Amino acid sequence: MLYSESQGAKTTKDGWIDVSVPLRSGMVHWPDNPPVRIERALNIERGDAANVSEISMGAHTGTHMDGPLHFLREGKGLDEMPLTATIGRSRVIETRDPESIKPEELHAYKLQRDERILFKTQNSGRRWSSEDFIEDFVYVSQEAARYLAGREIQTVGVDYLSVGGYRKDGVETHRALLEAGIWVIEGLDLSEVEPGEYELICLPVKIERSDGAPARAILRPA
Ligand SMILES: [Zn+2]
Repeated sequence: MLYSESQGAKTTKDGWIDVSVPLRSGMVHWPDNPPVRIERALNIERGDAANVSEISMGAHTGTHMDGPLHFLREGKGLDEMPLTATIGRSRVIETRDPESIKPEELHAYKLQRDERILFKTQNSGRRWSSEDFIEDFVYVSQEAARYLAGREIQTVGVDYLSVGGYRKDGVETHRALLEAGIWVIEGLDLSEVEPGEYELICLPVKIERSDGAPARAILRPA
């Protein structure tokens, strides 16, 4: 088995760290979203010529991206995202607040326009080991979302299923980021990633007019 105990990140010989979460039937998902079901529709074991899987899941499960269309009626689909939004230099920032990411904790980092920022919170490492949805994950507060919009960052990534909270700031945080044209990566596993500068590659599957899409995300120290 190639994955570590948490089935999370692993590092290749050339330094790339896989920060994507493996998709599997029955895995954790947002409470009112469809479950993940991956089954062999054709199966060599049953006499078929090939193995062919059928995949059924919500577009906002596991490691995925949000398109503006997720919360904005006239928003762009994720298929319109410029590839440079998620390929290039990025910064992993570790935050300590156990409730949410707040502007006070971000001031020190002097965020620059067009930066790609990935937040490592307490979610990484402990949240993904649970098969059950965890309601009190660390999220981006709406104040921090507006702060990030004000800094004109390009891309933000978080280490659980949503940038916004479960009971708080879900809509507000998404809208603040998406209206500002910030591209959103959700569901990263940053448990094996130290804060610092990285090369990021994250590409969402190209689905027409998509509000969201599964993505593979990898990092390499810059
Ligand atoms: Zn989202």
